[in-house]
Parts: sequence; C-alpha cells; structure tokens
Amino acid sequence: MAEYKRPTTAEEFEKNFKQKKPLMNDTEAYYESSRCLFCYDAPCVQACPTHIDIPLFIKQIHTDNVTGASKTIFDSNWLGNACGVVCPTGVLCEGACVYNHQDVTPIQIGRLQNYATNKTIAADKKLFTIGEPNGKKIAVIGAGPAGIACACEARTLGFEVDIYEAKDKPSGLTVYGIAPYKITNEEVLDEIEYLQKQLQFNIIYNSAINTKEQLKDIENKYDAIFIGVGLGQTRVLGLEGEDKEGVVGAVEFIEELRMKQHEISVPDNVVVIGGGNTAMDAASESARMGAKKTVLAYRNSKEKMGAYGFEYDLAISSGVDSLFNATPIEIIGNGKVEGVKFLKTEVVDDQLKTIEGSEFTVACEMVIKATGQAKQGEFYKLIDNLDLDNKTRIKTNTEFQTSNPKYFAGGDAINGGAEVVNAAYDGKMAARGIHNWLLS
Ligand code: SF4
Repeated sequence: MAEYKRPTTAEEFEKNFKQKKPLMNDTEAYYESSRCLFCYDAPCVQACPTHIDIPLFIKQIHTDNVTGASKTIFDSNWLGNACGVVCPTGVLCEGACVYNHQDVTPIQIGRLQNYATNKTIAADKKLFTIGEPNGKKIAVIGAGPAGIACACEARTLGFEVDIYEAKDKPSGLTVYGIAPYKITNEEVLDEIEYLQKQLQFNIIYNSAINTKEQLKDIENKYDAIFIGVGLGQTRVLGLEGEDKEGVVGAVEFIEELRMKQHEISVPDNVVVIGGGNTAMDAASESARMGAKKTVLAYRNSKEKMGAYGFEYDLAISSGVDSLFNATPIEIIGNGKVEGVKFLKTEVVDDQLKTIEGSEFTVACEMVIKATGQAKQGEFYKLIDNLDLDNKTRIKTNTEFQTSNPKYFAGGDAINGGAEVVNAAYDGKMAARGIHNWLLS
C-alpha cells in the first residue's frame, strides 16, 4: 500500500499523481497494435458510446499511419485524446475486447487512442475542415465536453459558433473535475487549443448566464442554443455541523487541487463521505496529498457502492481505509471540523436502517462530501417551456432537442452525470440535430 509524502513542489506533486495511463512509446504502440485481431463486427466498437472504428485506427497505427488513426478517432469523438485516458475503458471498449473471453489481457485501446491523437496534436497536423458557411449562428452554453463537441461538429456543418463559458478555462469537468493522475491540465487544454485553432469557434470566458435578460439577448442573436452546462456544486446534505470550517464538497476539492496542485494543503486526517467514483477520486487524492489517514465512509455495503471496482481498488492501493455500513449523523467541532459522528447501518427487509445505540466518532480535520452534485435547476428556470424530468434533467428527443425547440441539450444536463465520452457523443449529435432542424 502506498504512502505519500506531502508534495510541496510541482515535481513532488507530479510524482504523487503519476499518470495511470502514461503515453505509449512507438515500440509499445507497434507491439500492442499487432495484437489486435481486427474482429468482424467488433464488440469494442459496439461498447464505445461514440462508436469509434477501433480495429481500423489500431490497424492504421500498426501501419505507421498515425495521422490517419487520429482522423478515424476524431471523426467519431471530438475529444478522442482525453477520452483515451479518462474513459473507464475497462467497462467500455477494453471490457468488451474478445481477449477477455480467453483469459488474455485485452488490447489497451485507450492508450493506443491517446498515443495516436497525442502525436497528431503535438505535431499540429491539420485534420479538419470548416463547412461552407450556412448563414446560421449557434450559441453554446458551457465549454465542457458536450459544448466543445457540439461546437466542433457545428463548425464542420458551416455554423458560426460562440461558446459562453462561466469559468476562465475550457473543457469543464475534464480540467476541473477529473483526478490529476488520469490526465494533466496541459493535455486537456492542448486538445481544445488544437480543435479551436482548426475549427475557429469562439469561446467567451467568464460569462456565466444568470438572468433572463442575458438569455433573451442570446435568443435574439442566435438561431439555436445548445445547453451543455453539466452539473452544479456539491449537494447540501443537511447534516448538523455541515457549515464548519474544513467541510468541503468533493467537486470543489478536486477543482482546487487541479488548479493549485501542491499549493493546497490537506490535513493529517480526512473523512470522505460517499460511495461513487468521485468519492474514490477525492479519497485517493487526499492520500496522495499526504494525509496520514483518509477514511472513505459509505452508508451501505461495499457491493452497493456506485463506484467502479477498479476505482475503489485504486483508492485502497493509494492508502485509503474504507468504512462500510456507516451513515454520518453530525459533523462535530468547535467552529472547525474535529470529527464525524456515525451510526452503523444494516439491511432489514430490503431497507437500510440505522442501528440504535451504535454511534461512534471518527476524528478528522477535514470532511469531503462526495454525495452528488446539484443540477442546474435555477438556470433551467430562466428558459421558457423547458421540460425537465423528476430528477431535474432536461428532457430531449432523439435529435437532442428540448421541449423549447430553439434549445438543444446534452451531457450531464440530460443524463444526470455520466462520462466525458457520453457528453462528447451528445454534443456532436446535437449539432447534427440543430442542422436537421434549421436546414433540412
Ligand atoms: Fe481488436 Fe479486441 Fe476490438 Fe477485437 S475486440 S477488434 S481484438 S480491440
């Protein structure tokens, strides 16, 4: 089990957050691509949400046509480079690879994808062509994966595109919310710069849309609007003591860590509350920032956790301790966090119940709440006739068009929180939906 020294320099931070899927060298890529069986009706392609022609790009890599491989990848997924390393490939393409049925390690599809696109981006190879101007303008709200994919596809279809982004950097969760050992800030931003340089979409930073007037203005200026706003801040739990100093949301914690890296400090004892992938990331990051004890607390059993098994294993191998069947009832401390009071839980008649008199306290100086993000409900209220489902997700039809026909939507705003690759697919298909609506 790893033990991490508190990082105080950029080098130490990099060492603690060493990339889980490092860039392949030429020999590795040549060897790995030689293993592919180029299956007919390849299951890896079916398992990819963007349906990249995986055997084709692997063959292109093997025949030293790296630029062609990148074209194959980007043709299906505008964020092909980032997705190569941030996608949970073990449950998508690599999980479906036929080698799994023969007890042979599946092809490292993600790393091969990243190898090709990384080389192409580094060499600044021109791959894309802007479509003949069609006279229509699209506003994209949010420069996350869905928004960027929508903008890229729309530019190839001849639309003018302006993206309104609340923050000062593009790519949303990919740069602000993904664990630093999955992808570096530089790699995320290089891909966006590469796309933007060729496809010439505008990004207007620091321009949150908060009022109906702002939105009306946008409605008047553009022919269609794509909503790619993702999710909001960490949800409030309503726990006693939740407002104490040292209680942070996981998303906010990860964002600060990604932006400030070794300049932030994590105390010796940390409790992370939650059982999803974000909780695993936050716990692993806390351990890698040098916390002596990081406890991952989940109210139900290990089997009921929403996180992927490999994410849990990664957290444990980083030195995180787990605490199952414990639900927090209060955060204690005198102004600052001193611990979390829990009650043990058990399942009775298929219901999770707390056990009376089972109260105990875990001492800590920091609590990270990884218990889900709020939806952007307040923003949605600004849009006329926008239908939402009972989980505050925007409802769309098969063309990604909402109940207000001028608005299209995709990514976390419609699925409630999924992978970067799902957002990339939605954004691309929404641009096609807009094209069909305005020009067919
Ligand atoms: Fe290659 Fe595996 Fe896909 Fe078959 S399933 S084409 S072996 S990557």
